[in-house]
Amino acid sequence: MKTASFSQRIIHWYGLHGRKTLPWQLNKTPYKVWVSEIMLQQTQVATVIPYFTRFMARFPDVVALANADTDEVLHHWTGLGYYARARNLHKAAQIIRDEHQGIFPRQFDAVLALPGIGRSTAGAILSLSLGQHHPILDGNVKRVLARHGAIGGWPGQPKVEQTLWQLAATLSPNHDIAQYNQAMMDMGAGICTRSRPACERCPVAVDCQAQLQGKQGDYPGKKPKKAIPARDAWLLVVRHGNTILLQKRPPAGIWGGLWCFPQYASKAALTDALEGLGYSATQLQALPGFRHTFSHFHLDAQPMLLTLNQHDDEMAAKLQQSAHPQDAVMEAAPSLWYNLGQPSRVGLAAATERVLAGLTPSAIEE
Ligand code: SF4
Repeated sequence: MKTASFSQRIIHWYGLHGRKTLPWQLNKTPYKVWVSEIMLQQTQVATVIPYFTRFMARFPDVVALANADTDEVLHHWTGLGYYARARNLHKAAQIIRDEHQGIFPRQFDAVLALPGIGRSTAGAILSLSLGQHHPILDGNVKRVLARHGAIGGWPGQPKVEQTLWQLAATLSPNHDIAQYNQAMMDMGAGICTRSRPACERCPVAVDCQAQLQGKQGDYPGKKPKKAIPARDAWLLVVRHGNTILLQKRPPAGIWGGLWCFPQYASKAALTDALEGLGYSATQLQALPGFRHTFSHFHLDAQPMLLTLNQHDDEMAAKLQQSAHPQDAVMEAAPSLWYNLGQPSRVGLAAATERVLAGLTPSAIEE
């Protein structure tokens, strides 16, 4: 008997096992699918669901998102990480409001031109929400295709990626594209997983080259390793009463637009800054240090707590004015006193959240 085509088997499998009732799959619109696709980049479905629900309740349409304050958008993203995604989402919403009359564009090139949207995401939005015929190639789909066709090499290399795009286009069906694309993503996430793929439950196992060779682990090829450097960051955690001094990072660079502690490249730089204000380094108390890893470097963070006298408002004001991020120009950054008892609705960097979590009112002495 002739084996059904690749896409027929995938679509059939989707009918039996695919996910069809996730919040962004009900009453689908390009806006909902767009937000979900951006949240799902590098993030698991189970993590995304509560964020998506809260986000949609606060920003029910693209214009509501465009008109919101960046701080509030970042606040709704706190904990999801990769904040450039939220900043791009916000910027793109403003472009849609200003240049597309507030209606999510329907043309592929117009979608692709929006910040934060690559070829695969544009294809996913338009195919899943409107049934337009576009192939997709996110990380999950790359894995399925690389294994099924035994396509060697790291998909980050343009040549390998081009081969995978061609394969994605060739295998895409002319009908039921929404189901097919959704199924391919589900397959990669739930069956053809990075480690230990469930080949015994896979609808395309019979002609999967990696499976036939017993070499699933070889595909897709790994990214060539390079050592990533480490940098030190001394975080000045100033506590005044029940509030903590935070400042806003410049829009570009790490933690762009998020709220962080004043940061210094070395202990000497921190000590000098404090001494200039009449403090002694002996007043600092070391909090537990930690390593935060970015894509291109490790940040070895050492938070240092400076507890001001409850009534020392003058010194608090001085510190607030003097603090500036180490890698910004010397002008003072916007700052605020973050109340531990009544947290402000602002976007916090992951490292800030982590230190604040150890500073609950009961954890430090009044
Ligand atoms: S048979 Fe296994 S390796 Fe091949 S596509 Fe299916 S799950 Fe992936």
